[in-house]
Amino acid sequence: MELYYMQQCIENKQASGNGYFTKKCSSFFTQMYYNKRCLLTTSCTDSLEMSGLLANIHPGDEVIVPSYTFVTSALAFVREGATIVFADSRADNPCIDETKIEELITSRTKVIVVVHYAGIACDMDYIMAIAAKYNLLVVEDAAQAIDSYYKGRLLGSIGDMAALSFHETKNIQCGEGGLLVVNNDLFAKRADIIWEKGTNRSEFFRGEVNKYGWKDTGSSFLPCEFVAACLLAQLEALEAIQKRRRQIWEYYYEGLQVMKNRFLSIPEYATNNAHLFCFLCDSLDERNRMIEYLKRNEIMATFHYLCLHKSEFVKMQNSASFGLSLPHAERYADCLVRLPLYYEMEDQEVEYVVNKILDFYKQ
Ligand SMILES: *Cc1c(COP(=O)(O)O)cnc(C)c1O
Repeated sequence: MELYYMQQCIENKQASGNGYFTKKCSSFFTQMYYNKRCLLTTSCTDSLEMSGLLANIHPGDEVIVPSYTFVTSALAFVREGATIVFADSRADNPCIDETKIEELITSRTKVIVVVHYAGIACDMDYIMAIAAKYNLLVVEDAAQAIDSYYKGRLLGSIGDMAALSFHETKNIQCGEGGLLVVNNDLFAKRADIIWEKGTNRSEFFRGEVNKYGWKDTGSSFLPCEFVAACLLAQLEALEAIQKRRRQIWEYYYEGLQVMKNRFLSIPEYATNNAHLFCFLCDSLDERNRMIEYLKRNEIMATFHYLCLHKSEFVKMQNSASFGLSLPHAERYADCLVRLPLYYEMEDQEVEYVVNKILDFYKQ
């Protein structure tokens, strides 16, 4: 289907953005996200950058971001001049420790970024209540969170804005791609303008104005039609993809029950979208030996994020965050292992991985 749709782009003679396939994808997401404004972008990073612009960040503003996440959860706001205040993760999973957020808030705080790690929801009621109390915006980095829920509400539908990723490594993918969901209607109109390179071209195409021009800041955030065509095929296969990913995830979960104290916890308010299967080793040394052992057995297991508060970049910026101790984030950086999990994976391949891990701990 991916190829067929991409071929249609050529036949339709429309390759640039915001055409037939972009609109198909947008309306799919608009339905999914309770009729909120959904803008297709070229990456989750772009969507996060759009939220940095929409949040009107100025130099000196502070943004709270978990340290255990991908670079661009923070970088999107650093580009606008924000100072990042790094937060620790929970003890039982890498999501932001909601109970530690309030003590990080100052008069300069503008935004709280939450990351639903592995598609596991952060405690959004708690976080939205803090944001309301201090009049802050909440941006959900929902890069890994498609098809996952918090108390029955879809992730990406709760914060003021949310960014999703369709990078090759995510559940649904088109190579590079993303989505911005604008849940707070106050930002919907400006989001259109920023998306369309600072112009009100979207309004013009909807027939709401009779000419369009330069209105605001912005950039070229929209993907070309080939990308949207590929994504549409993936969206149509969402159910099948998710069904298979969940089977593989369950297989790991059952097969590795003897080490279930090493698994991440999925709190009662959260669901599992089978984005990734991971577990925790006891130490960095054990984790390195585990990955090495699996590699020798031709299994590609990987660690995940390095703590952002310990990065070269943060050190170079002389940030107060460098040298902080965020023990939970540091533990995930040292001890977490991700196992292979992809749609085409065969049952016997999953079984092979399970057996090798059990063997490792038997040695
Ligand atoms: C993958 C990912 C990103 C970046 O997504 P891109 O689409 O590659 O820009 C950002 N944040 C998190 C948590 C991610 O997992």
